[in-house]
Amino acid sequence: MVNSTMLDLGSNRSVIRELFEYGKKRAAECGAENVFDYSLGNPSIPSPAEVNENAVRIMRERSSIAVHGYTSAVGDNGVRTAIADDLNARFGTSYKKENLFMTCGAAASLISVFRALTVDHSSEILAIAPFFPEYECFVKANGGVFGYVPADVPSFQIDFKKLEAMISENTQAVIINSPNNPSGVVYSEETVARLADLLTQKSARFGHPIYIISDEPYRELVYGSATVPWVPSFYKNTIVCYSYSKSLSLPGERIGYVLVPSECDGFTDVYNAVAGGARASGFVCAPSLWQYTVGACASSRPDIAGYDENRRLLCGALTEIGYRFAPPHGAFYLFIESPTGDGASFSETAMKHNLLLVPGNGFKCDSYLRAAYCVDGEMIKRSIPAFRAAYLEATGNA
Ligand code: PLP
Repeated sequence: MVNSTMLDLGSNRSVIRELFEYGKKRAAECGAENVFDYSLGNPSIPSPAEVNENAVRIMRERSSIAVHGYTSAVGDNGVRTAIADDLNARFGTSYKKENLFMTCGAAASLISVFRALTVDHSSEILAIAPFFPEYECFVKANGGVFGYVPADVPSFQIDFKKLEAMISENTQAVIINSPNNPSGVVYSEETVARLADLLTQKSARFGHPIYIISDEPYRELVYGSATVPWVPSFYKNTIVCYSYSKSLSLPGERIGYVLVPSECDGFTDVYNAVAGGARASGFVCAPSLWQYTVGACASSRPDIAGYDENRRLLCGALTEIGYRFAPPHGAFYLFIESPTGDGASFSETAMKHNLLLVPGNGFKCDSYLRAAYCVDGEMIKRSIPAFRAAYLEATGNA
């Protein structure tokens, strides 16, 4: 006998992975240049040069034992201090190393925080759809309750009426993700301030803090004049889950952190429970070499000009064809309204043209599709006729 939940999770590939595998198969059949794969959110710009330079320097300068040995579970002191200093310089805060817990990427940050806040089987974490599908799996596999409310479409900001109706005495946290995967939307200051007001009221009503979990691996990926509000400045009970996967293009290295501000209600317990969540998940410590590297590069920022160019190219061409989409100010995703009203059927139509778009149902937003534009710009140019043909086929104008 094996655990049926784990068996299910391990046996069924995600739709995104299925599409990616299908793309590889089609590339072998009809040539890679004829397949337009927008399925995966794998960064396509290289890490800033200083990232690799520092990794190499650290390997050269320090002993093998120092580079490859365990750090303490919370992470290296110097690394956490460097990150705290960088956050303080950017956001006018006064964090210290004691507020930071180094993790194996955002997924590990999230599961550690979910475990910390799941008090019993009625503990509930709420999300705003569309959301990163792993939230549900992480919360449920950990014995908690997962709930969600749809965003206010087409702005994709929070629908406060729906969220307010959903919050109960069991709600432990609301998880937000801005810039958002899959919508590419960035929450406005007004949205964050309203959320803070709502949760302050609800926390008082239910007699316990309702935390915001701010999942922000795309924090630095914003375009034009858009800015990402620093959520803990609006709401003291905010726990930040961060990762360098997207900002420094290091998804395979598994490195990130959890930030628990000292102002959080129950700070010491929350921080220690996050450490417990990481321990119970067997993370031991975040990868040492990559801790030292991100510590040395704490003030590095990505050059996102390539993503911005892709965004403009794709948005311009799709608008011209007649597509509509969510306001694309951040991350590297375009969330496209299905011309037929149904994302899954349009994904199939698109596949006939070797155009791979992820249907929105996996993100709990059925009438949309996600295009990850962290791809080669030349592929975008080659894909425009396929977007046009799929659109015409779906709308009966072929
Ligand atoms: N949260 C969101 C919204 C994501 O899009 C992702 C990855 O795509 C993650 C978390 C997990 O990131 P990581 O690779 O750092 O675990």
